[in-house]
Amino acid sequence: MAIGTITTMAADGAPLARRLRPFTTTIFATMSELATATGSVNLGQGFPDTDGPDELREVAVAAIRHGANQYPPSAGVPELRHAVAAHQDTWYGMELDPDSEVLVTVGATEATAACVLALCEPGDEVVMFEPTYDSYAACCAMAGAVPRLVRLHPPDWEFDPDELVSAVGPRTKLILLNSPHNPTGKVFGPDELAQIAALCTAHDLLAVTDEVYEHLVFDGTHLPLATLPQMRERTLTVSSGGKTFSFTGWKVGWVCGPAPLVAAVRAVKQFLTYTSPAPFQLAVAAGLGFAPDALGAPAAELVAKRDLLCEGLAALGHTVYRPAATYFATTDITTVAPGLSAEEYCRALPGRCGVVAIPSSVFYDPADPGAGRTLVRWAFCKREPVLVDALARLASW
Ligand code: PMP
Ligand code: GLN
Repeated sequence: MAIGTITTMAADGAPLARRLRPFTTTIFATMSELATATGSVNLGQGFPDTDGPDELREVAVAAIRHGANQYPPSAGVPELRHAVAAHQDTWYGMELDPDSEVLVTVGATEATAACVLALCEPGDEVVMFEPTYDSYAACCAMAGAVPRLVRLHPPDWEFDPDELVSAVGPRTKLILLNSPHNPTGKVFGPDELAQIAALCTAHDLLAVTDEVYEHLVFDGTHLPLATLPQMRERTLTVSSGGKTFSFTGWKVGWVCGPAPLVAAVRAVKQFLTYTSPAPFQLAVAAGLGFAPDALGAPAAELVAKRDLLCEGLAALGHTVYRPAATYFATTDITTVAPGLSAEEYCRALPGRCGVVAIPSSVFYDPADPGAGRTLVRWAFCKREPVLVDALARLASW
């Protein structure tokens, strides 16, 4: 029997492989490959086109030169666990024990996956807001959990509180909240967080919060859900150094929360990756020690890029939903590409204009084909001349 046949049989017979079949390739990888193949300006996958501080690069290089090259502790190097605890205290007044309440992961991606795997039994339900970051449905599929979606509505990406309440049922285990939110750039406000917290406490739910864009906020203030009354003991807060320091390839993330929950996640992490790369942990630890102004510097630079891209797209006829945070803007393409879906538009865009963007429809439930049908996500974490070039190219649509 050919190896290909065995592989196919194994995949067909394995429930996990079957559940993951809809997730074989991420939209970000697909669109980045398309950008490379067509020589397009890549405003798709969210990564900056300039690296973060030299100072942090030097810490990683020195760490490699000076022997941080063997397995670090599974929970993360003490320097980073202490730096995460200090960061949460300085920024949000959250006191954490660096030994039992902080776990270092391979990016926020592993952190969220390990949280869902650790906390959910097959059949448990996870409430999350739609559009939804792509890895969350895959995390649920891996755990055998079921996503329950609550829709965010443009222009302000508000949700209907009744819809949130009715998303909670007897099998609901946790709420997976992403704020600041990818792809919409929404920052959940204090009233919205209070509604989510009230639901968690009323139904004894856990919360996992993905806060990777915590330092890329332009309008409003980011507030971790864990800081609300009675939420600390039921919330796992996830973040990572990729966005904050513009080193998305370093893949250093973390989970913080009450010791028993962190211990459960740690048990999963041990057998997914065991530990995370030592030199990058040390570099991110140094970064978290930056003064608050320095940590906020990338946001100050990004806001001008957001405005450049949003104003440019509006001038080209897009309906623009200007983000309050992150490095993604959303537009509705109905007026610039009448009759086309976002997916059709984004497939045609590299060939016609030499630009790549992400159809936001991929962040919606595939069982609801009309959802987000004409929404497109554009990354603006690029150098200004690159954004100007992209806009000039888009003018030829
Ligand atoms: N969560 C969200 C909302 C993201 O946008 C991303 C992408 N950067 C991640 C998690 C993944 O973060 P990391 O690269 O640290 O795994
Ligand atoms: N978070 C990035 C984005 O939204 C992509 C990360 C990835 O490729 N997994 O574009």
